[in-house]
Amino acid sequence: MASLKDCQYYKAYLEIIGVPHGAPDYATLPNGRVIVEMHEVKCRRIINGVRYGVVVGSRGALCNHLKKQHDLDRAPGLDLHRPSHADVMAAKAFYKGLMDRHDQILKQENAAMAQRAQEIVAKAGQGVRFAAISTLLATPRLGWYVLCSYPD
Ligand SMILES: [Zn+2]
Repeated sequence: MASLKDCQYYKAYLEIIGVPHGAPDYATLPNGRVIVEMHEVKCRRIINGVRYGVVVGSRGALCNHLKKQHDLDRAPGLDLHRPSHADVMAAKAFYKGLMDRHDQILKQENAAMAQRAQEIVAKAGQGVRFAAISTLLATPRLGWYVLCSYPD
């Protein structure tokens, strides 16, 4: 039986901290209900441009969160116990799209950070900051925070 368990994109979705970068807000149906994806556990709601990124333990808990915090009702129709092949394929496509976009955004951010670090190195030359900047170049994700504490 098809399931999300062997889907690399769903695994990546669970493994990353928080909500994927660039995750779209919930689509609302004409009846005002929102589509909550199969086994979705991270709130994608964006309010006035701000995402709060709540992560819960199950889709049921996410639906409760959406109702309590955002007054949103989920659209019915997804059978989680015996999902149809089409539903599983649609969910896989959803998580692939979500994680492809996340990866793309991180890649762009890292490229921008590396570029910024190169500029700082070029300006600073030698000095106390050099060690921190070297760290930045070696580990862009960690280095972002290092860079923040070493403004030029
Ligand atoms: Zn929320």
